[in-house]
Amino acid sequence: MRDAPLFFPQTIYANRKGPAPRVLLAPQRYIQGQGVLANTGKYLQLLGAKRVGILASSRGLKADAKTVINSIEAKGLEVHTSAFDGECSLAEIDKQVEAFSDKFVDCLIAVGGGKCVDAGKCIAYRLGIDVVIVPTLASNDAPTSAVSVLYTPDGVSSGAEFFPQNPAIVIVDTQVVANASTRYLVAGIGDAMATWYEARVCLNNPNATTIMGTRPTLAANAISTICAETLYAVGEAAVESVKANRVDEALEKVVEANTLLSGLGFESGGLAVAHAIAQSYTNLPIVHANYLHGEMVAMGVLTQLMIEGDVDEANKAAEFFAKVGLPIHLGQLSIEVSDTASLNLLAKETSEYATVANMPMEITKSVALRGVIAAHDLGSKVAGKIGDSAYQSLHN
Ligand SMILES: [Zn+2]
Repeated sequence: MRDAPLFFPQTIYANRKGPAPRVLLAPQRYIQGQGVLANTGKYLQLLGAKRVGILASSRGLKADAKTVINSIEAKGLEVHTSAFDGECSLAEIDKQVEAFSDKFVDCLIAVGGGKCVDAGKCIAYRLGIDVVIVPTLASNDAPTSAVSVLYTPDGVSSGAEFFPQNPAIVIVDTQVVANASTRYLVAGIGDAMATWYEARVCLNNPNATTIMGTRPTLAANAISTICAETLYAVGEAAVESVKANRVDEALEKVVEANTLLSGLGFESGGLAVAHAIAQSYTNLPIVHANYLHGEMVAMGVLTQLMIEGDVDEANKAAEFFAKVGLPIHLGQLSIEVSDTASLNLLAKETSEYATVANMPMEITKSVALRGVIAAHDLGSKVAGKIGDSAYQSLHN
């Protein structure tokens, strides 16, 4: 194990004498398809791995991670497993580094949801080895990036950790995604829909930078655009496919949007209010206990668009969210609009979140609060028109 100091991307990319450079970050390889998990052992030949660590939940170790392990062992590689059953917290990361450090693994595969994936990046960095990400859900855009979101052991957002390299390989088996609960894909759609709206803010504001301290490239902008277009075009169809556990073209496209396009788009295109709102919602216990990241991001998208004054786009997004089952008003995150203590905390945390500095206007506490209420009002109207049957079908 190496003594891994925390990595700060600004120390590499920032430019003291002029504007930040345009930078595109990406994993070395992204592999997506039906049944690809069974080929993991073959893909590891790209890295020359010999002793492989596997991080997955205890349930995962008997399910999807088992497919991964069988495929690696069939290639004659050594496998060491450890069960991840916590938050992506520093305590859990230290515990896992300890578990792997005397096994001399030369590659770590994280098989699971967003928190397991993010913890895998932190553990591999501390061990000084390659990380391979195998997301078993398309519920968020964490897999491709060189950043992990950290939480306290109780699940409250507590900052981020950056790495010099993106994952070496990301492997997404669309049959695994199709077999998972529909709510996860829908949450991933919420997370991915924010990408273009946040990247647009950063592209248009010359003072905005990505979380890496860089300016967006045209490539990241194009990727974010096609991400949103794909979701609006085939998002509803993909939700129907997952309900039937079916892999088809719509599902393949939306899995790519949720994972690859959104991942590259947010990391190299930049974030704004939508994610500041989402991360701030984790401070409200009832929200963080009951809702997924992408569901909080959906509310963040509506809030950001209302702050921007883009009511037409907010309406379009809210109608789409209602049809796929994402929350569009406070009641759908179990918050009463009369709960001023919670809303004030949400607004305060949002105004202090770093990515709001990318907005062209100052996001004070009162601007954030007005945005949250305006989004709630708009969402309530849209829910009255379209109904909440899609949301209810995922939340019963
Ligand atoms: Zn996100």
